[in-house]
Amino acid sequence: MANPLFDQLFGRHAGQTTPFLHLPDGSTLTHADYLAMAARYANAFSQLGLTPGDRLALQVEKSPQALAVYAAAVQAGVVFLPLNTGYTAAELAYFIENSGARLVVCDPDAAERLRPIASASGAQLQTLDAHGGGTLSDLAATQPDSFETVARSADDLAAFLYTSGTTGRSKGAMLTQTNLLSNAETLVDYWRFTERDVLLHALPIFHTHGLFVATNTILLSGGSMIFLPKFDLDAVIAQLPHATTMMGVPTFYTRLLGDAHFTKELVRHMRLFVSGSAPLLADTHVQFEERTDHRILERYGMTETNMNTSNPYDGVRRAGTVGLPLPGVELKVTDPATGKALADGEIGQIEVRGPNVFKGYWQMPEKTREELRADGFFITGDLGLIDDQGYVQIVGRNKDLIISGGYNIYPKEIESVLDEQPGVLESAVVGVPHPDFGETVVGFLVAENGQAPDLSAIEVAVGAELARFKHPRKLIMLPELPRNTMGKVQKNVLRLEYGGLFAETSEGQ
Ligand code: ATP
Ligand code: MG
Repeated sequence: MANPLFDQLFGRHAGQTTPFLHLPDGSTLTHADYLAMAARYANAFSQLGLTPGDRLALQVEKSPQALAVYAAAVQAGVVFLPLNTGYTAAELAYFIENSGARLVVCDPDAAERLRPIASASGAQLQTLDAHGGGTLSDLAATQPDSFETVARSADDLAAFLYTSGTTGRSKGAMLTQTNLLSNAETLVDYWRFTERDVLLHALPIFHTHGLFVATNTILLSGGSMIFLPKFDLDAVIAQLPHATTMMGVPTFYTRLLGDAHFTKELVRHMRLFVSGSAPLLADTHVQFEERTDHRILERYGMTETNMNTSNPYDGVRRAGTVGLPLPGVELKVTDPATGKALADGEIGQIEVRGPNVFKGYWQMPEKTREELRADGFFITGDLGLIDDQGYVQIVGRNKDLIISGGYNIYPKEIESVLDEQPGVLESAVVGVPHPDFGETVVGFLVAENGQAPDLSAIEVAVGAELARFKHPRKLIMLPELPRNTMGKVQKNVLRLEYGGLFAETSEGQ
């Protein structure tokens, strides 16, 4: 019986004795070892009474075993639900209860904390540690290393992923077998992955980027990954000579550029560096090329759709853009008020349609109806435009758009000017409530080399480059921008903290 996702990504490597994971201790796990390990977990799930369609929530440190639980879930028809390792007990209580998970797998030292939460929502609790210990691993160790794959259809749910919660409470995105498989097939082809590829993997595996974009691509191509527990600069630099490709978030690249050991020689042999999950600064793009001769390939995706666009592998990689819609993905920019498609160059909301688009938000029928149109287009919540070459530019999120005195202001335009000022490492611009203008612009700056820049000079420079209504009413220095684990700037945190800045004044200074 067929299970397309399992058969394509995992099953066909069952006898493959080439490496799948290169581990920090120097050992390797072959594809065959990995599949045998997964089969033991799938058998363990049967022992625990899990049935197809049940949800399995996993909050553990990154490890080969955690990745085997993913394969096992797909093989057993259980819906895989990885959870951010940074979630607090209160957040976890929400996700476990909201998802209706039948089984919760956590690190052994979190078990005590989670047991009452799991039992309150009727879930079983098992443990797994980063070294392969824990109750679930102990059970799996006693199981046979083959498992009869559970049949699934293309439209069945394979995974269930909560969005990063950058703009508010995370939403559970339901992803089908087709969603995941179609994207993996497209990416292998588009980025030319083969079984000779060795991907440096330092991303978390609870997010669409590290789990689906990176891992599924390697699984489908039959290649291997240097599987690092996290982004540790020294470890990454030590491993780069052994890799052919790397996928990362922009902060990986800025951190590499900050290290003198990161040289052209170190990465001369590599064929591809990909960046996604957050905007890559133009400066990073330029500096990376100057340092290494490689042009980072920027791409754009999200929990609900995996991947939407990518700069081309062979064609021109345009800095400041996220590239072209992937084959099979339709992308249009529409007027938020009317939903009508806009002309090239005009800024509007980005909508996408294709086999990658999710089935809807878990237990949120209203929100699903609002954002997933009847014709299949998903309203992404991002604002952007399509340029004269068909490349997509993201200008920000709908929720971050500032409306001040009736004007639409795109924070990114102001951030680009601020980022270029001497002494400024990076910036974030948000709208805060203002009694006269509805909202007004506030700029947050992080200093380069810890030395505060000359704010009045920056004000003059901004004044010369931007129309008056876009000038930040206030510039505030911060030691760093608030970011979540995927490196995304949390503007809602800034809005919350600085929302009262102009509450008392009617003139804003
Ligand atoms: P939530 O939906 O809960 O607010 P989130 O949107 O950050 O959180 P994810 O699905 O992890 O959760 O992130 C997708 C978003 O990340 C996109 O909608 C987009 O705003 C941003 N993003 C991803 N890649 C890029 C990129 N290359 N450039 C700019 N933004 C990007
Ligand atoms: Mg989102």
